[in-house]
Amino acid sequence: MTDNSSTTNSTTQPLPKVLISGASIAGPALARWLGRNGFSVTVVEKSPSIRPGGQAVDFKGDTHMRLLHAMGVYDDIWAAQTSRTDWRIINAKEEVQAILPGEFLGGNVEILRGDLADILYRHSAKDAAYVFGDEITALHDDGGGVDVEFAHRPPERFDLVIGADGVHSAVRRLAYGPEDDYLVKTGFYYAIASAPVPLENLEIKLADGRAVAYAYSEPYRFACLGGQKAPSLFIFAGKEGSKYDRRSAVAQHEFLDSHFKGSGWRIPQALAAVGTTDFYMDELVRTKMDTYTRGRVALVGDAGYANTLGGFGSGLALMGAYVLSGELVKCHGDYAAAFAEYDRVMAKPASVAKTGNAGEFFCPPSYWRIWLRNLSFANSWTRAGMVWVANWMATDESMPVYDML
Ligand SMILES: Cc1cc2nc3c(=O)[nH]c(=O)nc-3n(C[C@H](O)[C@H](O)[C@H](O)COP(=O)(O)OP(=O)(O)OC[C@H]3O[C@@H](n4cnc5c(N)ncnc54)[C@H](O)[C@@H]3O)c2cc1C
Repeated sequence: MTDNSSTTNSTTQPLPKVLISGASIAGPALARWLGRNGFSVTVVEKSPSIRPGGQAVDFKGDTHMRLLHAMGVYDDIWAAQTSRTDWRIINAKEEVQAILPGEFLGGNVEILRGDLADILYRHSAKDAAYVFGDEITALHDDGGGVDVEFAHRPPERFDLVIGADGVHSAVRRLAYGPEDDYLVKTGFYYAIASAPVPLENLEIKLADGRAVAYAYSEPYRFACLGGQKAPSLFIFAGKEGSKYDRRSAVAQHEFLDSHFKGSGWRIPQALAAVGTTDFYMDELVRTKMDTYTRGRVALVGDAGYANTLGGFGSGLALMGAYVLSGELVKCHGDYAAAFAEYDRVMAKPASVAKTGNAGEFFCPPSYWRIWLRNLSFANSWTRAGMVWVANWMATDESMPVYDML
C-alpha cells in the first residue's frame, strides 16, 4: 500500500451526514470507518436483523489481511472461521477425478457470510445508528443534499447516500436507472441450501480436521455437496428462453428441479432435501459500471463491483469501504473530490470483477470439456499456481494508506 496520510486536510467544515443502505459486509465496514472518524452515520437494512447464515466467503492475500488487522476484526474472524474444505470432483462412480483444494476455495481465512456480517456489525454498532426492517424508496439529489424517502420512516435529508445493498442494489436503481442497464447476465444460475446432504459412506472429514465436499458435473450442470462453502450448491446453465419469478420460492424450486431433471449421482436425493430448508437462488451476474459515484450517491461492494462466485467479493467490499472512507476523511467533507478519488483508486482492484464467468468454469458444455477442466486440477503444481494467482489478483500494493482511527 502507498502511504497517503501526509495529504490529510482538515478544515472547520462539519463532516457530512451519511446514509448507508445495506448491513452485510460493505455497509458495516463503511459505518465503522466513517463513524469512528467523526461522520454522522445511519445504516438502513431491509431485513429485521443482520441476516444470518449463507455461504462461506474468504479473504486472501496481503491487502485483505492488512485491512482486517487495521479494522481490528482479524482475531474475531479467525476465531469464527470455517474448517478448510477440499472439493473432490468425482464421476458418477464416485471416483475422484481432481481436487479443488481448501486453500484455493477458502483463501487465508474463510468464514460464513452471516458470521462475518455479525462481527462487522458488532464492531460498528457504536459508530452508527442502525435501522433494521426498513428501506429507501426514493432519492432526490438536488446538488445541495439528498432527500430520502423510506418505506416506514419519515423522509430525511442527508449529505451523502451510499448503496451497500448488494448486487440487486436499490440505491443503484434509484440513482442510476434500471438494473438491466448495469448488470451483465451470464445465463448461468446458482442455488444454495442448508439442506442435509446425502453423503452416506463417503469420507467427509480428514484426520487433520479438514472437511471434504463432493462435486459432480454433467454438461451444463454442477452440484457440490458438503463442506461449508454452501452445504448444497447447484450451478447450471439456463435453458434457452427459460425464466422464473425471482420473488416466488415455488417458481425457484421448479426452475432448479427442471434444470437437474434426469441427473445422476446423489442429485435427486439432494434436490428432494432442498425443499425443506433455507434456500437462495439467483442468476450469476457481473456489474457493468464505469464509475461508482453519481452526484452525492456512491456504491460500495457488490452494488458497484460484483461478479457472482468470482471469489473476490468480500475482500473488494472491504477495500471499497476503506478507500471511500479514507478519501472522505482526507478531503474533510469535500465529497466531490473524495468521490473522484474513490472512483480512480477503486478502478484497479475492481477490475478483477469485470471479466470472468464462474458458470463457464463450473458447467462446461460437454463431458470432454469437463474432463479437460478436471485435468487442470489433477496436477498439484497447477493447484499451487491457482492459489498463488488468486492471492496475487486479490492484492493491491498501490492502495493508499489513510490516516484514520
Ligand atoms: C455461494 C457464494 C459463495 C461466495 N463465495 C465467496 C468467496 O469465497 N469469497 C468472496 O470474497 N466472496 C464470495 N461471495 C460473494 C460475497 O458474498 C459478496 O461479494 C459479499 O457478500 C458482498 O457484500 P455486500 O455487503 O456488498 O453485499 P451483500 O452481502 O449482498 O449485502 C447486501 C445487504 O443489503 C441488504 N439490502 C438489499 N436490498 C436492500 C434495500 N433495498 N434496502 C436496504 N437494505 C438492502 C441485504 O439484506 C444485505 O444485508 C460468495 C457469494 C456466494 C453467493
